[in-house]
Amino acid sequence: MSEHPQTYTKPLPSLQGLSGAFYGWCARGELRFQRCSACARWRHVPRELCAHCGSFEWTWERSSGRGKVFSWTEVVRALHPDFGDETPYAPVIVEMQEGVRMLSRVLDCPPDALRIDLPLEVQFVAVHESLSLPLFRRVAR
Ligand SMILES: [Zn+2]
Repeated sequence: MSEHPQTYTKPLPSLQGLSGAFYGWCARGELRFQRCSACARWRHVPRELCAHCGSFEWTWERSSGRGKVFSWTEVVRALHPDFGDETPYAPVIVEMQEGVRMLSRVLDCPPDALRIDLPLEVQFVAVHESLSLPLFRRVAR
C-alpha cells in the first residue's frame, strides 16, 4: 500500500466516536488500545464497557507496536471492487504483545510468506491528511 494520500480511494474506517479516537492516536504515530482501569485488561476493538469485569472506566495506553501473526486468510477474489487490483492479499489477525488482537495487513509480504507467530511491528501508512492506517512489517526475532 504505497498510495499517495490524495490518490487513496479505498473505503476508510469511521472517524466517529471511539473509532475516531483510536485513529486519532494512529494519526500521531501512536498505536494505543483501551485498558480497563478496574481489572487492567487491554481491549480492542474500542468499546465503552469492559467485557471481563463490566467497568466503564478505562484509559488509552500506548502499545509496544509489536506482535505476531495469529491467523490470516488469503483473498483471491476481492469482495469490494476497490481491492480488486490487490488480489491475492491477506487480511491478518495480529496478536499484540499486550494480548489484544487486531485485523490488519502485512506490508511487502505475499500471503505464502505468512507463518503463525511471525514477528511483526506496526508501521503507520498515511492514506489521507487526517488518517493513518496501522499496518505491519515483518521483523527479525
Ligand atoms: Zn475490566
